Amino acid sequence: GEMNTWSEVDGYFNSRLLPADPVLDTVLDANAGAGLPAIDVAPNQGKLLYLLAKMKGAANILEIGTLGGYSTIWLARALPEAGRLVSLEYEHKNVVVAEDNLRLAGLADKTEVIEGPALESLAALEARGAAPFDFIFIDADKPNNPHYLKWALKLACPGAVIVADNVVRGGEVVRADSKDDRVQGIRQFMDLLAAEPRVEATALQTVGSKGYDGFVLGVISG
Ligand code: SAM
Repeated sequence: GEMNTWSEVDGYFNSRLLPADPVLDTVLDANAGAGLPAIDVAPNQGKLLYLLAKMKGAANILEIGTLGGYSTIWLARALPEAGRLVSLEYEHKNVVVAEDNLRLAGLADKTEVIEGPALESLAALEARGAAPFDFIFIDADKPNNPHYLKWALKLACPGAVIVADNVVRGGEVVRADSKDDRVQGIRQFMDLLAAEPRVEATALQTVGSKGYDGFVLGVISG
């Protein structure tokens, strides 16, 4: 079916554009071994994050939702020598796996995973002066997306890039009466974006090895 075609085409593109990556293979094996769900970004989407961060010249990246650190590694690889990345994750088990993976990838000294509910960690980051961030990737609990956007606006520098994943919800995002609080979180997030003069954004639907999905890409102005 369609899903097979999407995976096959992803496989073909990746065979041409994504060099063999034993570190990331080991990371995905470690995640599976630890029982983490395979809800990390797809390899070509990970590379998109890497490319966006690199195009931006991002030097202080914030990620909300670490899981096993797969997307974290892609993003952190785009950092310059003195660059930093902070990733927020509330499952202790995921934090342990992610820290191991970041060590394996040689990125331990550029990255920090903060354990706890992201809304608390965001307040702590503001308090300790970790902002401003120039690249923010939102990929955690979707009901909190409106709050994450408000925090992103607070913690971003002018020109910061913002990416939010999984905004399609299998197409249910168009259902205003959805009972799914993730759908409602995305819809409130979209409403905030629509009313927010400080963000220029777009949203794209995607297909591929992870199925049908989509993301929001935006830039924060001054
Ligand atoms: N960005 C990861 C990647 O692509 O490799 C995938 C992240 S996964 C989709 C979402 C993660 O957010 C999960 O690991 C989950 O435990 C975490 N999470 C969910 N709610 C959270 C919260 N309130 N605070 C911090 N992390 C949370």
